[in-house]
Amino acid sequence: MRCMKCGSKDVVFKRRYSSQRLCKDCFIEFIQKKVLRNIRLNKLIEKGDRVLAGVSGGKDSVAMLDILNILHERGIIELEVLTVDEGIKNYREKTLEIAKYHTKRLGIPHHIVKFKDCFGITLDEIVSSNVERGPCTYCGVFRRWIFNKIGKKLEADKIAIAHNLDDETEAILMNYLEGNIKNLIRLGPISESKDFLTKIKPLREIPENEIILYTKFKGLKTYLKPCPYVRYAFRREIYRFIKRISAKHPTIRYSILRGFEKIKPILKEKFQEKYTFDTCKICGEPASGKICQACKLCKELGISMS
Ligand code: SF4
Ligand code: ZN
Ligand code: ZN
Repeated sequence: MRCMKCGSKDVVFKRRYSSQRLCKDCFIEFIQKKVLRNIRLNKLIEKGDRVLAGVSGGKDSVAMLDILNILHERGIIELEVLTVDEGIKNYREKTLEIAKYHTKRLGIPHHIVKFKDCFGITLDEIVSSNVERGPCTYCGVFRRWIFNKIGKKLEADKIAIAHNLDDETEAILMNYLEGNIKNLIRLGPISESKDFLTKIKPLREIPENEIILYTKFKGLKTYLKPCPYVRYAFRREIYRFIKRISAKHPTIRYSILRGFEKIKPILKEKFQEKYTFDTCKICGEPASGKICQACKLCKELGISMS
């Protein structure tokens, strides 16, 4: 069996649901081209954009940085990196070292922002104070707040998030199940809103297992262990569910994605007006009511932003 692109005998990748067979170099090129095509077709990036990439040091963000750096090296974009340190002991410090290693290697400016500095508390401290909500709720809301705030401060045009195909389809199903139309209409390769900085997802079409292979074949250092709090996440249940049905239906993730893309314009037309944003009375960031989610959570925790 030979690589279908170059004819090499060293096939390292065989797709289950098609005849695709690739050698290592052709697989790397295939992934890069697929990501760059997604960027081009969905107009994620314009020439001269200042892109702030969220890089935790995990496999997805390291792969995203590696591919965005192609555009950076070609002089198409300006690239900077933001790592949010939530304060998760025995986890974040390890991934942070990897993020530092790659930004230094590529010579890309790296900004590190800690929950402790913004909110006076780490995620571990929040969790150990017996709060009712799950860790991912605080983590997600505070992280989004930091990205928007720091992105504006750094005058970024786009924030690049390393969501892969698995993440995106989990988010679609999760929001379907929760009936969360407000979140559903914001999902997509690019989320533009006058209130938030534009968020782009270059890896949205790449399955997680192919990202793992990409980093492995390119010899990119990553941290593969998941966050210790992932077991509390509702998303994890959805992850297991899709993984189980994918065994028999290997293209199910693409079906979920394409199905959602057909429904989304209808949802947007019907509901967009209903979900507009105001300005948070406390911090000045976008809010769907009088105060934003981050300030609501700070109030519940009895803390204030600094
Ligand atoms: Fe944050 Fe939850 Fe992700 Fe851990 S699993 S990094 S707590 S969102
Ligand atoms: Zn080949
Ligand atoms: Zn606020």
